[in-house]
Amino acid sequence: MQIDINGTICDAFSDQTILQVARKNNIYIPSLCYHNKTGSGGKCRVCMVEVEGTPDLVTSCNVFCKEGMKIRTDTQMVLEAQKVVVDLILSSGKHNCLTCEKNGDCELQEAAYYLGIENPSFHIDNDSYEKDNSSEFISVNREICIACGRCVRGCNYTVVNEVIDYGQRGFQTQIIFDNNKSMGTSSCVQCGECVQLCPVGCLSDKNAKGKGRPWQLKKIESVCTYCGVGCKIHLHIDESKNKIIRITGVEESIVNKGMLCIKGRYGFDFVNSSERLKTPLIKENGTFRETSWEEAISFTVKRFKEIKNQYGADAISGLCSAKVTNEENFAFMKFMRREIGTNNIDHCARLCHSSTVAGLAATLGSGAMTNDIAGIKKADVILIIGSDTSEAHPVIAAHIKQAVRLGKTKLIVIDPKRVKMADYATIYASMKPGTDVALLNCLMQIIITNNWHDMDFINKRTEDFELFKTEVISDQYKPERVSLLSNVPEATLFEIAELFGKAETASVFYAMGITQHHTGTDNVMSLSNLQLLCGNFGKEGGGLNPLRGQSNVQGACDMGGLPDVLSGYQKINDSLVKAKFEKAWGRSLSEKPGLTLMEMIKQADNGLIKSLYIMGENPLLSDPDQNHMISVFKKLDFIVVQDIFMTETAQMAHVVFPAASFAEKTGHFTNTERRVQRLNKAIKSPGLAKPDWQIIQMLANSMGGNWTYDSEKDIWEEITELTPSYSGIKWGRDGIQWPCPSPDHMGTPVLHKDRFTRGLGLFKAIGYKSPAELTDDNYPLILTTGRILQHYHTGTLTRKTEGLNHLAKPMVMISVDDAENLSLSNSEIVKVSSRRGEIELPAFVTRRIQKGVVFIPFHYHEAPANKLTLTELDPISKIPELKVCAVKISKIK
Ligand code: SF4
Ligand code: SF4
Ligand code: SF4
Repeated sequence: MQIDINGTICDAFSDQTILQVARKNNIYIPSLCYHNKTGSGGKCRVCMVEVEGTPDLVTSCNVFCKEGMKIRTDTQMVLEAQKVVVDLILSSGKHNCLTCEKNGDCELQEAAYYLGIENPSFHIDNDSYEKDNSSEFISVNREICIACGRCVRGCNYTVVNEVIDYGQRGFQTQIIFDNNKSMGTSSCVQCGECVQLCPVGCLSDKNAKGKGRPWQLKKIESVCTYCGVGCKIHLHIDESKNKIIRITGVEESIVNKGMLCIKGRYGFDFVNSSERLKTPLIKENGTFRETSWEEAISFTVKRFKEIKNQYGADAISGLCSAKVTNEENFAFMKFMRREIGTNNIDHCARLCHSSTVAGLAATLGSGAMTNDIAGIKKADVILIIGSDTSEAHPVIAAHIKQAVRLGKTKLIVIDPKRVKMADYATIYASMKPGTDVALLNCLMQIIITNNWHDMDFINKRTEDFELFKTEVISDQYKPERVSLLSNVPEATLFEIAELFGKAETASVFYAMGITQHHTGTDNVMSLSNLQLLCGNFGKEGGGLNPLRGQSNVQGACDMGGLPDVLSGYQKINDSLVKAKFEKAWGRSLSEKPGLTLMEMIKQADNGLIKSLYIMGENPLLSDPDQNHMISVFKKLDFIVVQDIFMTETAQMAHVVFPAASFAEKTGHFTNTERRVQRLNKAIKSPGLAKPDWQIIQMLANSMGGNWTYDSEKDIWEEITELTPSYSGIKWGRDGIQWPCPSPDHMGTPVLHKDRFTRGLGLFKAIGYKSPAELTDDNYPLILTTGRILQHYHTGTLTRKTEGLNHLAKPMVMISVDDAENLSLSNSEIVKVSSRRGEIELPAFVTRRIQKGVVFIPFHYHEAPANKLTLTELDPISKIPELKVCAVKISKIK
């Protein structure tokens, strides 16, 4: 339809309000309570307009368009009405623009300016409120709150954290946290959504205070460097100080719609940390000395050449990084393959989702998340298994919570811990770690027995169903047996199977709780079986969705940072693929698949690997059995580490290269849903630090490689030339999901729509195997490890932000029953021991974990959980069993 606003004819739809259409057409109507995410407030009444044929003024934020509507936003009556309202609002608070952080970006200020209000006309005596500075990252100044309700709606319906509400009524109306607690002691998770939505300065970023006015800061769009969700961010930069002052979420992003979590919004102090590496370092007599790039590069190349000449190229291995861009990972794998001459390349994906890649490649033909984030709300049922989503992938958790609270979606959560997402679930099952295959086979047995499976889908699109069926309907998986094994009551098994099996569209989300087992690939293939059985592939809101842990772990895999594939998962031993790359790179390549990460460590222990080149990883802290890792690293002849900090791993290196952080780089990350997103350089690197690709190019040229990339764009062009799934994502296209075969293709939100990548979906008959290490009298508890919201990976980045350190410290989560049995009290320091080592840390006694199981976050070097974990590998993907090992807890005398 068309409507007329002030004589301008505007296109409109019947579900659009007058305000939305006016904004789209750049016609300003002052408004305060409306935000496109929180919807029409109709409360502040600032956005009044005249509609022809309507006797009174109407609020434009909640009146929908009708064909031929004639609207005036600029008549005297409209402006005077708006002016009275804004005047009253300004009169009823202690608004002092001179010192307010929001000055220059305040919607109330903008409205007052537009309406020509120089001074408030009225004097309303409101109650005085103390400023609430109890939160680590957010300041609350209730004296300038205009009670617009955007924060209330945002907290409850956007991020669905359900913390803020209105307290009191009438003139005393104010926002409150929980049951009127201070913000810092409430259940607020400090995601900052309310700050981003607040139109005035009532809620503001505490640590940005006094550090720059909005007009003094430059805004650069980039991608969060933490988890695999890939939230789009604006970095607000003080160019004169070369500093990030604040971070906000990009409202237009389809991934995060402006939402961020505490790490993405507030965990950026590491970028400007004084501890950043600034100069290349060479170790001499056990200590590092600073050196020039020339010396560091020529020394490194000399050592690489010596090792290669003496022991062969396969004595050198490389770890690329889930933290650097696609361009840099591509350059790294090209360096290892073309200049060193080995396929010994891997990275931390081996430790998180190699079992996903192996399992789904076998059953579907492609090892990535099948569906997109935007489709979450289309699911009738979502099953979360082995993922603490609100801690590790908070913005995806927000999308799921929205679907549950505001939509039709029902949630099932299966996890050994009662994770926060369980509070939103229709069914929660507390399972014993390591019993996934038995539990899933049991659920599938119930589904088949009750005929809730999708035979039409199975007949048309799958193979080997009968073989699979024979396995899952065997007596071993009868509910009464599996209930005993998994600790999940029989009735709950039936309820889960019924809810999931009968759903029109059901999706599965999982993470390392599924993958990090010696049966990781089996676990993944069992989930694939479940989705094949119920016909949930190829449709919006369905699919199998592994949540990737790091910002560019998907990209590092896509770029060929793996021992057996080049970019786009093209097999190194496929003669056509090899010939294509050899022609493009002008060198012959080895077709012998290289070593995986854990195999590299094993061969280094055996003396066959002599050198490691590590870019942006900290395996000493993130990999299992730390004591063993340290002893192996000591055996290596030559270690090169390229990083932004002197990590535990860098300390063991012979040469250290200082690298640029994500904020100092241009390039691309690929997020967990295969979306390729652009990073833009916002600030300069400290000292002599350089982007990783430039360091790699210097090494390559010193090796005689004759590389001539002038910029990231040159590398990107090579990637799109050589990688079919990326070939249509030309430089300048942002946010496209691969596969994207041509420049006019819009990308692929849902994989396997009409056919699976491998043709037919393959059922696998998977038998249950018990965990590699079982509990006994000496080690009676099961340890499982993972992440917490405030910290990330080995803490190298998040622990540079003081506020995050205040909020979360090392702890072992233990059930009330076990704590009572051991006579432990909350916060008491305890010793946790396994057959491999022991650590000391405080106990956190909680009802959120089941009896017999303990949980330790793996972020802390002072209490490294991986001193305790196992190196037992999944035979297919070589992922270690990080999620189950036997431990004991003892009091410290
Ligand atoms: S920071 Fe997030 S969780 Fe806390 S009150 Fe604001 S919106 Fe709610
Ligand atoms: S704190 Fe801000 S967003 Fe919340 S009601 Fe007050 S003015 Fe509105
Ligand atoms: S959810 Fe992940 S990507 Fe988004 S802000 Fe948080 S850490 Fe960053």
